[in-house]
Parts: sequence; structure tokens; C-alpha cells
Amino acid sequence: MDNKLQNLYRECIQELNNIGIDMQNKQQIGTIEIKLSNRSKKRYGICKQEEPDEATRYIEKIGRKRLIKYQRYKKHKIEISTWVMQLNKDIIKNTIIHELIHCIPNCNNHGKEFKKYANYINKNLGYTIKTTGNKREDYQKSNLEYQEEADYKYKIKCKNCGQEFYRKRISKNFTQKYRCGKCGGKLEKNTCIKLINVV
Ligand SMILES: [Zn+2]
Ligand SMILES: [Zn+2]
Repeated sequence: MDNKLQNLYRECIQELNNIGIDMQNKQQIGTIEIKLSNRSKKRYGICKQEEPDEATRYIEKIGRKRLIKYQRYKKHKIEISTWVMQLNKDIIKNTIIHELIHCIPNCNNHGKEFKKYANYINKNLGYTIKTTGNKREDYQKSNLEYQEEADYKYKIKCKNCGQEFYRKRISKNFTQKYRCGKCGGKLEKNTCIKLINVV
């Protein structure tokens, strides 16, 4: 399994290199490690950033909060969830490349710079890098049966004003017991599948 990941990873690195994105440029990118992780049934993958480049430190203001951020990190640890490995090859590679983009300076989040790279790669290599994944859809594409329990959520909608919210679990008589917090209207419940963050 880990061999398969390493092989696909090498393919991704090569393909990116072919369109001018050199992930092996240590000066620019730093070092990248990739491995499998069994920890999450929801998450496709994650890119853990380490060793921030102090020279690229900046402060981001979110409301009253001030956060210390870095444009560039020197060490990246990518983890791909084990369950992803049973999906179609192109979906696995989508996930790997998504995490690889996070290793590029200024791409630690899903902001402008991340999207710029994602669009460029999608256009030139035919990938469909997104910021969220749809587990059910990806299972279907891979001809695998999808067990839905874990990702099911309830979507509650106000019949009057249309206000929507989500709950993981709700009590039996929820829609009879409660009314819309905004307008007092009656509520209806639907089961739905949550979109999963790829991270
Ligand atoms: Zn309402
Ligand atoms: Zn991401």
C-alpha cells in the first residue's frame, strides 16, 4: 500500500515538473515527506507544516484577533488517508497534488494563490483539484459501495424563511419540539451527506 503511494507520488512530482512546477527545489519548497495515515475516515489528506521561514513572517488580522503567519515553511509532512488508496488512481493523485500545492509558498490555505496553482494544474494536466471532496461521489466513480453512516448529517430547514442548519444527531421529535430561531416557523428535516474538507 505504501509502495503504491510512493509510486503515485513520484508520478505526480514528475507530471508537475513537466509543466514547470519543480517540487524538488529545496531552496524554494523545502523538504516533503509523504505517508499513509489511518487516523481519519473523513479527511482525504493533510499537509502538516513545520519549520516556518522566519523571514516570511506576517501578521493577519481577523476581526480583533492577530495571528502570526508564515508565507513559507521549510518542512512539509503529507499524510494521505488509507481509505483514499482504494479509490481510482486519478482521485488518489488529485489528493496527492492537492497536498503538494500546500507545500508551495503562500499556499498553506485555500486562498488565491492555492487556487491559482490548482487551476493551472487542472488546465494543463487534466486534474480536478478542489478544496472539498465528495466521498460518496468518489466511491461511485471508483465502483465501490459507499457506507454512508459516518458522514450523514441532518439538514434542518425552516419551511417559512428557508433558514438552514446542520446537525449530526437530533432528537426524535426535533421538528415538532423546535421552531426556527429566526422567524418561529416550522422546521423540516432532511438527511444529507456532508462535504468533506480535503485540507
Ligand atoms: Zn424561519
Ligand atoms: Zn487543502
